[in-house]
Amino acid sequence: MNIVIAGFGVAGATAAEEARKLDSKAYITIFSKEKDLFYYRPRLPEVVSGDLSPDKVIAHPKSWYDERRIEVRLGESLAEVNPAEKIVRGSMGSRQTYDAILLAIGAESNRPPFPGDKLGGIYAVRSLHDAWSLYFYAKDKKRAVLIGGGILGLEMGCALTKLGLSVVVLERAKRILPRQTTPASAELLRKKMSALGVEFLLETEAARFEGSGGLENVVLKNGGDLPAEAALISAGVTPNLGLAKVLGLKIDRAIVVDEYMETSLPGVYAAGDCAQFPGAAGGLWTTSREQALTAGFNIATKKPAERKIYVPKPPSSTLKVAGIDLVAAGNIDPDGLMRGVEAANETTYRKVVVDAAGRLAGFTVVGESRGVKELNAALTAGKILAAQTLEALTAPDFDFARL
Ligand SMILES: Cc1cc2nc3c(=O)[nH]c(=O)nc-3n(C[C@H](O)[C@H](O)[C@H](O)COP(=O)(O)OP(=O)(O)OC[C@H]3O[C@@H](n4cnc5c(N)ncnc54)[C@H](O)[C@@H]3O)c2cc1C
Repeated sequence: MNIVIAGFGVAGATAAEEARKLDSKAYITIFSKEKDLFYYRPRLPEVVSGDLSPDKVIAHPKSWYDERRIEVRLGESLAEVNPAEKIVRGSMGSRQTYDAILLAIGAESNRPPFPGDKLGGIYAVRSLHDAWSLYFYAKDKKRAVLIGGGILGLEMGCALTKLGLSVVVLERAKRILPRQTTPASAELLRKKMSALGVEFLLETEAARFEGSGGLENVVLKNGGDLPAEAALISAGVTPNLGLAKVLGLKIDRAIVVDEYMETSLPGVYAAGDCAQFPGAAGGLWTTSREQALTAGFNIATKKPAERKIYVPKPPSSTLKVAGIDLVAAGNIDPDGLMRGVEAANETTYRKVVVDAAGRLAGFTVVGESRGVKELNAALTAGKILAAQTLEALTAPDFDFARL
């Protein structure tokens, strides 16, 4: 069997490993647009801060893939697929036949256009190369402005403060992380981030960049301006859909897949940030990994009746900044419309929400990591919480073994 995988992020790498476990004889080829071996993308903020050198985020050396007879074509994109003849072509001219293809081609950072955005010093970080370039550029600079304050933006902001820069985040919304916080937890988070040297301008947007050669100034829509030599745009991602469009696959926000991770074209699968499945939160490492386990298994299994079904889990986001500990999972009911309990003090915040049937629907905590494992397990299991248990969750010393 010939298995072709496009993309060498977590989805591509995981699917290749899973397929090899099932089929020791298959030819497995990974086409990779990037030149680096598969690496841990969520650790890129540590590369930006200078805490990790690029080789430390690479998952396995080349020999690991050689031992498993997984052929990796670094720096060669999958350029063409001919489903009639079952042949693919790589961007460096290689051709090969296939029985099944996995599209694991991920997503790219959005770069909304701003006047002046061709100046040096303006970054959006998606790849290891981007992170390392930003580190080299920023390490002797003084001031950075972050356009957009999502989780990734905040992690990058903290990384830049570790490099010695002062950081201002411009956030269009009324509070930081509007999808992962309530008004109270956002305020606590703002204080904690401020203590680390990251300041916020809320309901504020950039209008243009100014400078001669390199960035010197970010002009705001409300008329003010901020001197800065570095700007980081963190404005979400867009799934890579080029190949899917050429192939005529069903596309909505991303490539539509069924519960087997198969696209609308038989034999062509998709997983990770480029795939769309009802109820699955996009843009998350664990989602990509679990989808790839399903896809890799289904591609390689010799028993079609035993194909695996992908079941999405409630989304869970963690702000990976030492000393902050923010987790938001499931529906955290940011606008306070559902039944739930909330407890806060100077340094911690906890909110737990249940649905109409009393089932745990979501939670968010700031400033503590105790209980996160148990809450996540209860959320995934869809546990019903008795009214007394829900009430007791406001106690700082709640025993999470009770969940
Ligand atoms: C800095 C950063 C921090 C993050 N932190 C977290 C976190 O803490 N927790 C979390 O859950 N998620 C996090 N994410 C998101 C997470 O990394 C992604 O959801 C995950 O990497 C998606 O994996 P993927 O394999 O689907 O796609 P990707 O990792 O995007 O990999 C796809 C690969 O395919 C390549 N490619 C594209 N087109 C082609 C082609 N035609 N042929 C060959 N190759 C191609 C791309 O260049 C890319 O290398 C973070 C993302 C970033 C950028």
